[in-house]
Amino acid sequence: MTAPQPTKTTCPYCGVGCGILADVSLDGKVGIRGDTTHPANFGRLCSKGSALGETVDLDDRLLYPEVDGQRVSWDAALRLVGSRFSETIAEYGPDSVAFYVSGQLLTEDYYVANKLMKGFIGSANIDTNSRLCMASSVAGHKRAFGSDTVPGCYEDLEIADLIVLVGSNLAWCHPVLYQRIVAAKDKRPEMKIVLIDPRRTMTSDIVDLHLPIKPDGDVALFSALLSHLFETDAIDQDFIAAHTSGFTDALRAADAMDILAIIEQTGLDHRLLRSFFELFARTDRTVTVFSQGVNQSARGTDKVNAIINCHLATGRVGKPGASPFSVTGQPNAMGGREVGGMSNTLAAHMDIENAEDRDRVRRFWQAPLVAAKSGLKAVDMFRALADGRIKALWIMATNPVVSMPDAGKIEDAIRNCPFVVVSDVIAKTDTVRHARVRLPAAAWGEKSGTVTNSERRISRQRSFLPLPGEARPDWWIVCEVAKHMGFGAAFDYKSTSEIFAEHAALSGFENNGTRDFDIGQFANISETEFDRLEPFQWPRHVGKEPSIRLFTDGTFFTRDGKARFTSLDLEPRRTTPAAYPMTLNTGRVRDHWHTMTRTAKSQRLSQHYGEPFAEIHPSDAASYNIGDADIIRISTGNGAILVRALISARQRPGSIFVPMHWTDQYASKARVDTLVPAVVDAISGQPASKNISVRIERF
Ligand code: SF4
Repeated sequence: MTAPQPTKTTCPYCGVGCGILADVSLDGKVGIRGDTTHPANFGRLCSKGSALGETVDLDDRLLYPEVDGQRVSWDAALRLVGSRFSETIAEYGPDSVAFYVSGQLLTEDYYVANKLMKGFIGSANIDTNSRLCMASSVAGHKRAFGSDTVPGCYEDLEIADLIVLVGSNLAWCHPVLYQRIVAAKDKRPEMKIVLIDPRRTMTSDIVDLHLPIKPDGDVALFSALLSHLFETDAIDQDFIAAHTSGFTDALRAADAMDILAIIEQTGLDHRLLRSFFELFARTDRTVTVFSQGVNQSARGTDKVNAIINCHLATGRVGKPGASPFSVTGQPNAMGGREVGGMSNTLAAHMDIENAEDRDRVRRFWQAPLVAAKSGLKAVDMFRALADGRIKALWIMATNPVVSMPDAGKIEDAIRNCPFVVVSDVIAKTDTVRHARVRLPAAAWGEKSGTVTNSERRISRQRSFLPLPGEARPDWWIVCEVAKHMGFGAAFDYKSTSEIFAEHAALSGFENNGTRDFDIGQFANISETEFDRLEPFQWPRHVGKEPSIRLFTDGTFFTRDGKARFTSLDLEPRRTTPAAYPMTLNTGRVRDHWHTMTRTAKSQRLSQHYGEPFAEIHPSDAASYNIGDADIIRISTGNGAILVRALISARQRPGSIFVPMHWTDQYASKARVDTLVPAVVDAISGQPASKNISVRIERF
């Protein structure tokens, strides 16, 4: 008897999007290996990916639909959801309902949820936890390139001569990309790596230069770099003249920044600034990788554009080993973007504020209408929930009671909403327990579809486990609710391949090749072809070679085809409130994921850090009379948490770092997002989770 073939699938954690081979043995154990043929990881996996087999058991699973805590049939649950949403819309209008979804959804799930809300309900009140992750990158790319388009690819990280990592602890948050860089540096030790981060994270172990920047000093730093590039004649005049607009204004704004203010805002001395600037100026093959330290800021979009300005000024966009490169947090943050997964975007990267785009999508969907304006972004959506404007909310595959800023108020808002539906894998998350209707969703390993990683590579997630209990895939649940709302004809899919084919067809519909996102060649994909689909990067136009990089010819997606510089001001001077003199920075640890619903199942992963902690510099620990492993109380006007002190010189004096993962389920009073105020970037709506004024004391 021949052994069954392993299933080729994709890791459900971070935006690297590693290929996985999953084997199920006769005793039901799941073996996990890296897929040596997958272009994201070539067989490598990190600790989280390797431990996936330990997290697929059915403990804590939500297996049956429930209403008011009682098991009900799917039909009863779906009828209730459909009728309550329909009645609410009839009484209060389409904007009285909302969906809050997740980068954990597959692209096909995202597609049908957006189609239902934007095309058939007629509101754009659908937002996603990706708002907390990469919304500033989306906005920055659109502002510079005319579209939300990441120009580079992973290979660029291996052939660059300089990698600048900004606000990114790649070693822990995108470990396989980090491993690829380590391997490249081993081969070419002359490759230089710079880390710009307030903390000396584990990523710093391989860097040649670390700039321990003050939180939110990035606009000042990259504006000063722009001035330096001009002064030292390191700009690409021909590229600027032929392919960009706005350089003179951006340079004038950068030049207007006083050097003392730059030093004050960055916290970096002349020597460090000069070393970095000279290295950047003389290295053509430079990739600037940026992540949450850039995006999760009240000026996240400006930070993205400050970085892109320097790449445009040197013509280093979309060239081998030379690009700005946003790396995203979730496995499918890019796939959600492709199908208009946020409240201010439309499917196939079309623009919800553009009447022609709306009309094109409406005709393609044969929808009654398409929402005529952007909907509420995550923070505003939960504010609307709190003040009663949203009267029915459906949360899919995410745990906002832990992960949203102002998490305590989010919990109150959800608890007080008249009708909350949660579709999830886990039965008792901090959010699920407040839901009136609980719908059991299929987990990783049980569902099938596509995800897109940080280099625009679309890969298949394939099922290799049976659906347990009455769990169903998210796309099926959305389509069944749509049918109960009277939209059955538009949601009559039999499988994810049909949804993928429709999504591909929309990307090519009336598209003369000017839109960035196009996978139109898959519009007629069969079930068998979808099943065999190998990883590929978009765009993938009919009759054209796939593009591994974008903008290689200097043509962008703006109306005039030119990339736009952004003129940026210095951050207004921030005064630290005397009552809250320390700065709190939140983030991830190596072995946990989001709110730990999956990774906490693995003993191996829980050994790395067994409890929440606050990393604090020895000088601050001394001033607050805090010893290693003491319990400390961290408070803001919003509340307080209790965590153990971890004294480390890796931390910047004046700042503390607390991981975001622990919830009240795993450690009492450890929900760090209860401390984070709901301050957002004015353009992207992304919350600022890295620079929060707090008070600390020994407990
Ligand atoms: Fe999964 Fe990311 Fe680790 Fe790859 S690097 S195995 S995608 S968590």
